[in-house]
Amino acid sequence: MVELPSFDWPRFLPGWVWLVGAGPGDPGLLTLHALNALRQADVVVYDALVEPAILDWAPGAERVHAGKRGGKPSPLQRDISLRLVELAREGRRVLRLKGGDPFVFGRGGEEGQTLVAHGVPIRVVPGISAGIGGLAYAGIPVTHRDVNQSVTFVTGHDQTGQAPSSLDWQAIARASEVIVVYMGLKHAARIAAELMAAGREGSEPVAIVTDATTPRQRVLETVLARLPEDAARVEPPAILCIGRNVLLRQVLDWREGGRDADPLGTRARPDSA
Ligand code: SAH
Repeated sequence: MVELPSFDWPRFLPGWVWLVGAGPGDPGLLTLHALNALRQADVVVYDALVEPAILDWAPGAERVHAGKRGGKPSPLQRDISLRLVELAREGRRVLRLKGGDPFVFGRGGEEGQTLVAHGVPIRVVPGISAGIGGLAYAGIPVTHRDVNQSVTFVTGHDQTGQAPSSLDWQAIARASEVIVVYMGLKHAARIAAELMAAGREGSEPVAIVTDATTPRQRVLETVLARLPEDAARVEPPAILCIGRNVLLRQVLDWREGGRDADPLGTRARPDSA
């Protein structure tokens, strides 16, 4: 077991709910605050996307599976939030463990609102989000000075589970060189069509990273025009990354080894400050 260094670690008081990010999978990507929370919790309410190994870090806690897969419409969301309220009112230390970061496409905000509305005190422990850390494990920097000055994170589902018709794809296509899509597999065809209709090239690089940071991680490199058929071949959870930064895997894929020292054709020039 990793020992926590001496520090004024917050005490988990009975009756509190801590909304904690578990990171994208690899237990080593937990924060120290998450570990401190796991050590003290009486009950851990966890999502399907949390790696089971992480629960072993809370050996004393009761485990409650919140039982839904990210991306599906969630009639149970209210029940989960109210269950958290109940557990807290029983005087337990309730750790609500969510994949990635609790406030990134994870409904952590909604759960927090319900808890606060019921007078339950909360603490939030951020986590490494799949759209950043998961891509790093695929050798893809989410920003790179030679590629992008902005990045857009979008969800491929809206509240109804449909493709996000509320998104302005024209604006996103114009404004953001790199687009990272959570929950994007189901509506990948629609997303690719919208982006190409808005002027993005069919030859633009795309990576589909499944089970990022776990031993099952797979990276499928494709292009926007072929995204529909390639997305249909893989199983969730997956992060889509659309943009030329995907080419950098050819040198930065530290897990499987690089293939090309200069995929963008920019490194030949002197490195300016
Ligand atoms: N709060 C989470 C996101 C929850 S939404 C976070 O910050 O990462 C669920 C979606 O996240 C999945 O459909 C998938 O798109 C993405 N995701 C989460 N974990 C992932 C992983 N290990 N590999 C690939 N995608 C992942």
